[in-house]
Amino acid sequence: MRILLISSITIILSYQLVPNLIERHFNPHVIRRFSTQKNEIALTFDDGPSPVYTPDLLDLLKEQGVHATFFLVAENAQAHPEIVKRMAEEGHAIGLHSLNHRGFWLETPKQTRLDFEESLQIFQDLNIELIGFRPPWGTFNALTRHYASKAGLPIYLWSRNAKDWEIETQPSDIVSRITQNLTAGEIIVLHDAGGDPQAPEHTIEALGTILPQMKKTFRFIPLKGGESRELDTTPVS
Ligand SMILES: [Zn+2]
Repeated sequence: MRILLISSITIILSYQLVPNLIERHFNPHVIRRFSTQKNEIALTFDDGPSPVYTPDLLDLLKEQGVHATFFLVAENAQAHPEIVKRMAEEGHAIGLHSLNHRGFWLETPKQTRLDFEESLQIFQDLNIELIGFRPPWGTFNALTRHYASKAGLPIYLWSRNAKDWEIETQPSDIVSRITQNLTAGEIIVLHDAGGDPQAPEHTIEALGTILPQMKKTFRFIPLKGGESRELDTTPVS
């Protein structure tokens, strides 16, 4: 009984807790912000596409002439290929956000391998070139980085989190979380799906308010997968 307990703790520590801690907070190859001399920032949207909200968001971005990066859940992309095609046609970058948004620390080694293999097949079938990978909730297991690297996908987290997946987060909260002390090279994480129902309405409303102003100061760029990383010691929240 005691051996079983010690074995379980050792497996959890070495497969989940320690790799997750190292990758999230200490791995300088995980991109949380990028180097730029041009006052550039990157808007990123996770968990989509959503047939309800993503088209409205794409309309807004088009109207404002802003390009972003969408980290897509592969099964959602497979369900809405027309939205994915539109993203690519309108100049947005597309990254992988797992097969079905199950956290990697809940996945066995075999499930982790299949998560990447099946996701990559879906995007290959859609003829989409992925620029990188962002794990759901920013969580890792001991194999996450191995499979991302095998697929040639740089790993992106974020420097700024608007916490917009909760319906309690008001558009004004999102505005201040995006704009306060914003500096060039920041990667901002937002959501067009995946959180509380209707939460993306607040995200779109907030962006509609601030994009015209922000464009006067910042250039919005889609991530390319080859940014030079800037080491940021800001804790990931
Ligand atoms: Zn997510």
